[in-house]
Formats: sequence, structure tokens, C-alpha cells
Amino acid sequence: MIRVYALCTGYIELDRASMVSDLTPGQPWTVPVTSFLVDHPRGRLARLGLTPVDVRYVANSHLHFDHCGGNEFFPRATFFVQRPELEAARRPGFVPSYSPSPIDFDHPLDYRMIDGEHDVFGDGSVVLLPTYGHTPGHQSLLIRAGKNAQIVCASDACYTRENMDRDVLPKVLWNPSVMRDSLAALRKLRDQAGATMFYGHDPVQWEATPRAPAPVI
Ligand SMILES: [Zn+2]
Repeated sequence: MIRVYALCTGYIELDRASMVSDLTPGQPWTVPVTSFLVDHPRGRLARLGLTPVDVRYVANSHLHFDHCGGNEFFPRATFFVQRPELEAARRPGFVPSYSPSPIDFDHPLDYRMIDGEHDVFGDGSVVLLPTYGHTPGHQSLLIRAGKNAQIVCASDACYTRENMDRDVLPKVLWNPSVMRDSLAALRKLRDQAGATMFYGHDPVQWEATPRAPAPVI
């Protein structure tokens, strides 16, 4: 039995136009930083009665500070990161406009670089999806928690529902055409495959999301 929990790991204040680039600048917005805990029989991400050393796997969507800044607190976990993401992060300046801070990710941890789609448990229940573009190796997470229960954690491949509905990219990105392709793939999962989409920093959606310790599903 798989359970999924939504957690808020902080808030960021920014200009709404930085997230939806065709809006008029000057509209301050407070957005949540969301994390999802997947409780799988063969590996758990949970704070519900567990401590960080109980966490077996962590999937970093990418290595911006708000998505990996707590990695060091999970010393026993294996960290899944897409290869182009970690390689770019470890060579500052190698990829223009992408230099995540080493203090956030560069710790002696068990990083496992993956190439594209990756089925974490080999049973199709938790699958990492390459959604490059926001950063060189951004990834999203697909969870199949039952016959008709598909959840996609888009992370920063799509900040808010508005980005997906109107096909508008944010200002913070690495490659706009690659990001647009990733956004289209996610939209297809939502609109054609019927997946429930969780956006990376959507305050409106977060208001309506059941929070841990209540499960999302
Ligand atoms: Zn980001």
C-alpha cells in the first residue's frame, strides 16, 4: 500500500511575474516550497513517526537551494539526481546561467546519477521523469498509488497551474524550448492520462491540498 503525504518545507516571497513571465512586474507573492513523502513498503519518505535516518531514498527534482538545501540531514539516504543536473552543479560556470550553491548539495552523500526515466522500486509505482529545462537536469516524480490514482509532482518544471494552463514559462529557467517540451509532456499526463498534477510553488493549490499527517491519497 502506497501513501503520499504533502509537506510544506518553507515559503518564498517573490514577484509573481518571475513565475509567470507575461504578467506585469510588481505583484509580490508568497509561495510554498512543497515536498512529497512517499510511503512505499520497500522504502519510506516520511516524517510521520520517523526520523531522517529512516528515509531511504530522496529524489531531488533539481539542485536549487529550496529543493536540496536539507539533503545533509538525510545521511543514510540514497539521492536520485539526473546526471546532467549533478554534473552541471559540480562544475560551476560550465553550464551558463546555472550555478547552484555547493553549500546546499555538496556533502558526502550517496548521490546516484540517473539518465532519464527511472523506476525506483521496479514495480512502476514510483517513477522519476526527466523534465529538463528549468535546469539542465530537472526531474519530476510520478506515483501510481492504485489503479486509477496517478500523481505527478511536477516540481519546478511547472511552478503553478497558470503556467500549464496558459503555456507561459517563468523567468527563472535554463533552456526555454526544452522547458516548454517538458511542460507539454506534463500537460499530457494531466489532461490525457488523468494524472493529478502537483505544481512546484502554487499557493492556490497548496491551500486546497491535504497536509501531513493527513495523506493526499
Ligand atoms: Zn528551481
